[in-house]
Amino acid sequence: MATRKVVTEGDEVLRKHAKSAGPVTTHLKEILLDMVDTMREENGVGLAAPQVGIMRRMFVAQPDPGDDAGVYYMIDPVITWYSEEKEWGVEGCLSVPDMVGDVERPVAVKIEATDLEGVRQQYEFEGFEARVMQHEYDHLDGILYTDKARNVRPAYEDDEEEENGREE
Ligand code: ZN
Repeated sequence: MATRKVVTEGDEVLRKHAKSAGPVTTHLKEILLDMVDTMREENGVGLAAPQVGIMRRMFVAQPDPGDDAGVYYMIDPVITWYSEEKEWGVEGCLSVPDMVGDVERPVAVKIEATDLEGVRQQYEFEGFEARVMQHEYDHLDGILYTDKARNVRPAYEDDEEEENGREE
């Protein structure tokens, strides 16, 4: 297991456009597997290559942390369709530690991407999964959720609210 250092907001690599990841080489796979280790270590549900300082168009995601089989390797992804319907949801980011904010995004998306075996795949996601994919995709174009969010706040405020909610 190898983890990599996650770059945080303020570092200019998070604002650059990533380049094509290209063919799935052994080296590329190593980076992607390190990214999964890093994502899990940091308790994240997704991690894009620029977040570990690699300026390539690829990200990993595991929207359900309890589902070890449910890891997506998205290499040179393209979002080919967005639903017209949008919804607001809470997001955080490993590159913006300890903060959350509300972001409005399309409820569903279709994505085409190369997988770890080098095969081009078509995916359709909705709800939380679609949100995670769009958030990670944005990282490839130097966009942070905080650019789109309203009410960015310390994450502990939401934790307290949840605890209060449970007491009622
Ligand atoms: Zn992020």
